[in-house]
Amino acid sequence: MSVLVVTAHPDDEAIGAGATLASLTDVHVVHLTDGAPRDRRWIPRSFHGSHAEYAEAREAEARQALLFANIDDVRALGCPDQEVVYNIRELADQVRAIIDELRPDVLMTTAYEGGHPDHDACAMIVQTLGMAIEMPLYHAEQGSFRALRFVDDRDGIIVNLDEEQCDRKKRMYECYLTQQELLAQFPIDIERFRVAPCYDFTQPPHAGPLWYEILGFSMDGETWRRVAADAYAFA
Ligand SMILES: [Zn+2]
Repeated sequence: MSVLVVTAHPDDEAIGAGATLASLTDVHVVHLTDGAPRDRRWIPRSFHGSHAEYAEAREAEARQALLFANIDDVRALGCPDQEVVYNIRELADQVRAIIDELRPDVLMTTAYEGGHPDHDACAMIVQTLGMAIEMPLYHAEQGSFRALRFVDDRDGIIVNLDEEQCDRKKRMYECYLTQQELLAQFPIDIERFRVAPCYDFTQPPHAGPLWYEILGFSMDGETWRRVAADAYAFA
């Protein structure tokens, strides 16, 4: 069974599905962004290199981590971090071309959950391209960070990782040197999946403030939905 995993950032695939992907034999990964926000506020202070070096570091980390899952086909589409929604048409075309090339049996992506505008735009792109399996990453629940749970708690498959899988996932996480602060917030021993529902991206993923609004991103949910609705015209 061949699987094409489409995520926004280098590390999303490991957070949501690292151990599960390691148990499969024919997995390909696409990162829509370079993981490097233009605004330096969103690059960890511990990283002292340039913006370009940060992007290079993030992609290199993912390539190294995914070797622990026996995945060597990792494709970086290079959209700037936090800007997927502004590039939906181009990115969808590129992902469609990869689907045409690889003809995967399964598409996998991230859920629409208001954690990060790029995760949501990634979910939207994949929804226009076919049926997918989705995984949660994070979202806000009553103002707090909630990791690896679907917004509506409707799980499909819950994978409880055994000791060996947890060890492998930890080794993957250790490769993401620039992301250690973020990764520390995720439970290591569980992954959740389900068939992606047909989302209405003109509606917010949940009531109340979205996680990226709480963080103070320049993008808010209302703007994201307006830009996303405009991009719907391509679907
Ligand atoms: Zn991400």
